[in-house]
Amino acid sequence: MGILDGRTILVAGVTMESSIGFATARVAQEQGATVLISNFGRALGITRRIAGRLPVTPPVLELDVTDDDHLAGLADQVREHADHLDGVVHSIAYGNPETLLGGRFLEGPWDDVSQAVQVSAYSLKSLVTACRPLMSSGGSIVGLTFDATQAWPAYDWMGVAKAGLESASRYLARDLGPDGIRCNLVAAGPLKTLAAKAIPGFEDLESAWKDRAPLGWDETDHDPTARAVVALLSDFFPATTGEIVHVDGGFHSQGL
Ligand code: NAP
Repeated sequence: MGILDGRTILVAGVTMESSIGFATARVAQEQGATVLISNFGRALGITRRIAGRLPVTPPVLELDVTDDDHLAGLADQVREHADHLDGVVHSIAYGNPETLLGGRFLEGPWDDVSQAVQVSAYSLKSLVTACRPLMSSGGSIVGLTFDATQAWPAYDWMGVAKAGLESASRYLARDLGPDGIRCNLVAAGPLKTLAAKAIPGFEDLESAWKDRAPLGWDETDHDPTARAVVALLSDFFPATTGEIVHVDGGFHSQGL
């Protein structure tokens, strides 16, 4: 018996097997969930191929979170496979690595910053409102952040976008709580994924984690993060919303 038995979950933002979304979809299936996954654009073909590597091949939906038509049609896309959703995972972020990341904070141009904020923060609201008609019995939203309470090397404008995501999650918790919908984030430590590889200087964060996380940190192991997301999707956090759960080996709790 799994903690997501009988639940239907949409995981948005799965490209490769290395995606946190992929690990989340796998753990959710292992815990009994029916899973749908989504991605967009040219990578959709890759997502369709790697979907077959999950324990159960899930439907792959097309969703660009900046595309109003995709958002408007999302509930109907889901209804082709399921009549409701119990949970939604937001595992989506983008910031132009050439202009916004890797130590170029003072030069970051607004057009690219606005794209990063739209894709990485505003999209939590967009995704949730698109899915809301399918969550009339309540449910759980979980997103992924990289602790935005401090400035990091290299992370730059993506850190600002994550601060927006964290705030948006709290407002969604406020507005959706009365409908029985919880909204929480998992703040993961650095993990080797496509998005992380695109950040120039990300290896400095990885080595800081190795040095300082009390529990140690394996940047190739996505399971602790995926399991925390699945726990938040389940009934085991029934009175928790607007929260950020750190899955970082304890790094955030330590000084030098
Ligand atoms: P990932 O595999 O690259 O996942 C990011 C996903 O966002 C990709 O599937 C990407 O699709 C998708 N995406 C980008 N723009 C989109 C758009 N307009 N519409 C829909 N989807 C879009 O990298 P990841 O590391 O697993 O990232 C997942 C989440 O975890 C992100 O929020 C990230 O910030 C967060 N996180 C990551 C780390 C880490 O160290 N890796 C740590 C903490 C938090 P394409 O690949 O097709 O562009």
